[in-house]
Amino acid sequence: MTGISTNLIHNKTRTNDVIPPINVSTTFKYPENPNDYIKAIDGKLEDYFHNDLYYYSRVAHPNAELVEKALAKILDGYVVAYSSGLAAFFALLTHVNPKQLVIGQAYHGCHGIAKIFARNHGLTILDLRDSASFDRLQKGDLVHLETPVNPHGLNLDIEHYAKLAHEKGAFLLVDSTFAPPPLQYPFNHGADIIMHSATKYFGGHSDLLAGLLVVKDQEKFHNLVEDRIYLGTNIGNLEASLLYRSLKTFELRVLRQSENCEKLVKFLNDNKLKFKNLKQVFHGSIQFEKLDNQITKHAPTFSLTLISEEFARNFPSKLKYFVHATSLGGVESLIEWRAMSDASVDPTLLRVSVGVENVEDLIEDFRSALSE
Ligand SMILES: *Cc1c(COP(=O)(O)O)cnc(C)c1O
Repeated sequence: MTGISTNLIHNKTRTNDVIPPINVSTTFKYPENPNDYIKAIDGKLEDYFHNDLYYYSRVAHPNAELVEKALAKILDGYVVAYSSGLAAFFALLTHVNPKQLVIGQAYHGCHGIAKIFARNHGLTILDLRDSASFDRLQKGDLVHLETPVNPHGLNLDIEHYAKLAHEKGAFLLVDSTFAPPPLQYPFNHGADIIMHSATKYFGGHSDLLAGLLVVKDQEKFHNLVEDRIYLGTNIGNLEASLLYRSLKTFELRVLRQSENCEKLVKFLNDNKLKFKNLKQVFHGSIQFEKLDNQITKHAPTFSLTLISEEFARNFPSKLKYFVHATSLGGVESLIEWRAMSDASVDPTLLRVSVGVENVEDLIEDFRSALSE
């Protein structure tokens, strides 16, 4: 099988530029003979894409298509790109239109969208952590599983939840944002749909917003693309160019970030007793229930709790190489006192997104800040 980097670096573009041109056009000239065009598209959606028949960017444009085709090779399915991760989740809920949604600990924005559906369409929201929720599931319902889960970076068992969902005819969506390939392949464990906030590891430079849905069958792909035209949530032209640029270094970045993270987590966990300000460290690599079968290398994001809310609030300012900011996945390390953006979490908790810096510098930074 062709490797991840090879697949992401070598793709057919429309020009002979080594790098596809940044394309900022919203609209494209029709062919000389409009009849050719009308005949070609003839209501068949795939023809919007594969015959260079771009005509309006909300429908399709060259760099979005390039991103989708490149990512399809490494994500083992059909990829639909969106203007953000939440736009992808919104599109999925709109498409599946479940009566009930099972959702547990997950990105706060996904809960926000679920609440809008509850308000507008009477969606029933059930808790993933309550086994009774699965007894109530019906055909066509949706189970949303985020793993590794925000903000802790701990793993949940995809196979377990796939079985519970499928027994009732429900779909399993896995938000795999924290562990893109080659860390984890949710389809291999029973997921029906995969979601990514491409803002994070695929983007990797904290300079774009994008989201992805990955599905296994072509019909679902077409339906999602058709919905997207009317939801108006296609990825933007410039963002698609930035994202395609990012994909070329994707594998290098993610592997280095994962490795750095595991080393930093090990240092902190091994020295937990030495640092009196450090309470607990959370990460898949030190998780009690190992899921080695599901995740081969761990998410480059972890959390820690500190001795007090005040110490946690001030901790980011003691670090040199971790920017105090929300988000994750970029080449630069970030740390966030998580209560800043998600009021539901422990106020002593900090979430850390580990970048590609020299790991000794990152470890030294934490050693010195925790020793203060
Ligand atoms: C960031 C994030 C999202 C939302 O993605 P956006 O691109 O910010 O809209 C969804 N799920 C997870 C796990 C995330 O980290």
